[in-house]
Amino acid sequence: MRAEVIAIGDELTTGQRLDTNTQWLSQRLTELGVQVAFHTTITDELADNVAAFRAAINRVDIVVATGGLGPTADDLTRDAIAAATNTELVCDEASLMHIKSLFASRGRQMPERNEVQADFPVGSVPIFNPHGTAPGIEMSMVGEDGKRCTLFALPGVPAEMFEMWEATVAPRILALQPEPRVIRHRRIKCFGVGESTLEAMLPDLIRRDREPRVGITVSDATLTLRITATGRDEATCFAAMEPTIATIYESLGDLVFGEEDDELQHTVIRLLAERNLTLAVEDWATGELLTGWLAAADEESHVYRTNPNPSADLVAELAAQPHSVAAAIEIAERVRRETQADIGLGIAAFPAQTEGPEAHIYAALALPGQTRKLCFSCAAHPSIVHSRTAKQALNALRLALV
Ligand code: ATP
Repeated sequence: MRAEVIAIGDELTTGQRLDTNTQWLSQRLTELGVQVAFHTTITDELADNVAAFRAAINRVDIVVATGGLGPTADDLTRDAIAAATNTELVCDEASLMHIKSLFASRGRQMPERNEVQADFPVGSVPIFNPHGTAPGIEMSMVGEDGKRCTLFALPGVPAEMFEMWEATVAPRILALQPEPRVIRHRRIKCFGVGESTLEAMLPDLIRRDREPRVGITVSDATLTLRITATGRDEATCFAAMEPTIATIYESLGDLVFGEEDDELQHTVIRLLAERNLTLAVEDWATGELLTGWLAAADEESHVYRTNPNPSADLVAELAAQPHSVAAAIEIAERVRRETQADIGLGIAAFPAQTEGPEAHIYAALALPGQTRKLCFSCAAHPSIVHSRTAKQALNALRLALV
């Protein structure tokens, strides 16, 4: 089954409020095995709403809309659904009683304006909203090509919407499915090559019609392979993904550093702990990103040793080095010595050397018995140079450890 999620409201289309309902609903629909094919966001204009509902009814099996069920003149979802399905609105007495009782429980009389919240398109059924004055709407209809579509309209208030989804909408969608299906994902994290190189290394996997499906996304140079399988239950999905995952590990070797929420720093901390090694870092290049990530990943401070700030004299002396590679070596060896860690990582970038296409940042790994020089290109957008450099340093350390 395919679904469309519709979010309604000027506050969304003008960018004043982030549409979190669509993200949440898409995750829940996916968990139920429903493929979300469209996201639509609409302003509070009746004609736009009618057009959006008509389009959705004709192209998917399930529509879930949020917003526009309030009592004010710009709350148009009821009218839009009635117009899109060529029906009238009629008052549902039980819903009206419930709205009145909500006002009474707060010691108030219901304003006349709220009566419209008990109006429903003929042929629809109310979805009970225990804590709000806006009941939801469920309506089943036949689209132009004779295909059946079930529409659920819920209030925009996230807490009310969540409650109504769990109590009413999710069980209804499960009941609509010919046989129960679930969709599950796994994510494999890689670092060290570009997106197209990675794709070329997995020739048969990144095909749209493949099952399980494999997609690539990139964020600040970290590549994520997202594997998606559909099956009758979770175990079937995970079993179906196994051969694909084995092929990925085989084809990519040590480009893979982790899975799911792993970042490079988690892998580095894990490898250090497994090898009983400690690490200290002197970071003159990433605006403390690198040290911050490592400290956060080593929650119990088992392997990462924080480093006392070097004195101003020492900083001046190192900055006078002819080249930042010399400074990187010095600070890597110094931090290892002073903290008595097994590994010292120094990373230095003098501004004059970090601009332009040939720009590089230098790092050094002081290991027992040897110091290795590392050189990273900083040919990236200025907004990601720090995080890219921190990741390159972590990746070099990871590779040294494996
Ligand atoms: P109400 O009865 O409260 O008027 P409603 O169905 O008319 O409910 P809206 O008035 O559109 O809903 O929105 C109510 C609240 O929920 C607002 O604070 C709005 O910003 C928030 N909201 C609406 N839609 C979304 C969305 N898609 N994502 C996150 N928040 C939303």
